[in-house]
Formats: sequence, structure tokens, C-alpha cells
Amino acid sequence: MKCYFSHFKFISDIVFQDMISRRNFIQTLSGVSGGIALSGPVMSVPLMTSEVQLPIVVSTWNHGIPANEAAWEILREGGYALDAVEAGVRVAEADPEVITVGYGGLPDATGKVTLDACIMDEQGNAGSVAFLEHIKHPVSVARKVMEQTPHVMLTGKGALSFALKNGFSRENLLTPAARSAWKRWKKTDRTFKPVINIENEEIWNHDTIGMLALDSRGRLCGACTTSGMAFKLHGRVGDSPIIGAGLFVDGDIGGAVATGSGELVMKTLGSFLVVELMRQGLTPDEACREAVMRIAAKIPDHQKHQIGYLALDIHGNTGSFAMQPGFDYALRTSGKNELVMAPPLMK
Ligand code: ASP
Repeated sequence: MKCYFSHFKFISDIVFQDMISRRNFIQTLSGVSGGIALSGPVMSVPLMTSEVQLPIVVSTWNHGIPANEAAWEILREGGYALDAVEAGVRVAEADPEVITVGYGGLPDATGKVTLDACIMDEQGNAGSVAFLEHIKHPVSVARKVMEQTPHVMLTGKGALSFALKNGFSRENLLTPAARSAWKRWKKTDRTFKPVINIENEEIWNHDTIGMLALDSRGRLCGACTTSGMAFKLHGRVGDSPIIGAGLFVDGDIGGAVATGSGELVMKTLGSFLVVELMRQGLTPDEACREAVMRIAAKIPDHQKHQIGYLALDIHGNTGSFAMQPGFDYALRTSGKNELVMAPPLMK
């Protein structure tokens, strides 16, 4: 299926030509032949060609590269975007090397791994779990909440007992590496500090995977899953499982996901805002930028935080914007899977 770009009114011909040539340059750089090609993130270049080939999948951060591949396996066979986003983010959930999602995620201040996740389909159905312990794949529990209950969100012990009743197994999610990191943190002043995750920073302690996929039938779905902020207060829930904050999808408009300091995203209902701005005619890039600007305008200490938004519209156009340098996302289309660097507000 081909989709045709519909936002020309915002972009002069000159800018459009520039995007095309930069995109071609990036494609040449990435040089994919049938799989993953990756040589570091490229400048943010929205997919705004006159025609966009479907399917397409995008996801936050570099753990999005293998996640996109799992989603692509489903999408390239003509599969459903909902199955694709679930399968995609499960890769990060299961990977102990990803210390910010699922198994291997860094624990809270009490040493417990507590997970947040949600999922949303093209019809506006949504499911979510928050403050969930012992279950490796919270996104799949969120999908069960969506499909098998009259509710949207289950939390804590209730979410755990729902998961166990629905065939999920109880597991220890605290890996030796995450436990050592927690023990090291306990020897410090033991206060929670947001880590900005700025470009080239060694410290890296929170990075959710949010994924949006548009399948070959034009169905747009999204998922979001995280272990949240490392060493957070026990009981803290971030933006990631909150429909409209960490993820929002409107199957007639587009979808958005958020990463970074969840409290700031929650205070501005960021992903919902991005989708609403796209509804009003902004491109995905413009909408993500405006949502970051809203935080900058309303929240005084925003300079101390990283926020990254990623959006995909139903025409297959992508866009992103971040508070700080260093937020990249993985973009998978036919023939390439590459990291794209989001433009930042702070230089
Ligand atoms: N948004 C997540 C949270 O606040 C963390 C992140 O994506 O970096 O829990």
C-alpha cells in the first residue's frame, strides 16, 4: 500500500527538496541489504516524501533496532500492527542488557523491579499495567487487560494476580548486574536524581521503549514498556502506562510515544497533545516540537530533564523532538532499519 503525504502546506518547496536530498543521503549512508544497517544515529529527517511505502515501524532509542526487526517480521507478511508492536517491545523486555525495560531493568529504591506498560490499537482500545512485579512481559499483560476485561488499567498486586491467572509465570526480574547497580546506588546519598541521558553521558538509567507501527492495511497501533526511573520511590508510576501520556493512538490521525522524565510528560499529557496537534494539521515533527515547547513554557526546571517525543501519522510520516541532545529512535521501513537523531531544544 502506498500513502501520499498531505502536509505540503507547511513546507516550502525548498525545504521539501532539502529533506529529500538529506534523506537520500541517509539511505546511501545506511546501505541496508535485507536487514539491519547501523552506523550511529543520523540527523533527524522526517519521512516526508511524496509517497511513503507501508508498512513502517518506529521505536525509541537504540534498543529499538532489534525490536523493530521483530515487529517487521510480522509487518512484512501483511500482519497486524498490534501484533507487531507487542512482539517488538517484548524483545527489549526480555533482554537483560536493556537495563531500563523489563527483565534486567534497574530496580526502585527498595531493590524491587516494578514495571509499567501499555498498548493501544487503531480503534482506540487500550490496555495498561502499572507497578507490576515479577512478570517479564508487562506489555502482553496490558494487551490481555485490553482484550479480556472491561477495564483499561490494572496496577500492583491486582495486575500481578490477573497476570498469574492468565498464564503468565512469576519470575525474578532482578539480574545480578541490576542488583549490583542498586547496591552501588545504596552506598551513595540514596536520593533520587533524574538523570538527563544527554548525548555522550556515561550514566544511563532510564529509557523506555515506545513503538508505533503502521501496517500494510493502514492500521496504526502502539506500545510502551519500561522499568521506569532507576531507584525511584517504591510505588512510583511514570508516564509510560498512562494512556495519553506515554502513548496515544488515534487510528484516524496518528500516534505518539514519550520517553524521558515521566512526571513532566504526565503534567502535560504529552502523547495526547502530540496527536491532537497532528489533528490540527501539524506535521509529526512540528507536533513533537510543540509538545516539548509546552513543557519548556510550563515547567520551570525542565532544563534538568530529558524528554523525547516520537510520532507517526497515518500517512506514514514520522517526526521527533527532544528537550536535550541525545534522543534517537529506530526507523524501520522496507530495506532499512536505522537510528535517527531527534532535534533538541537545548543545544
Ligand atoms: N518515561 C519513563 C518514566 O518516567 C522513563 C524514560 O522513558 O526514560 O518512567
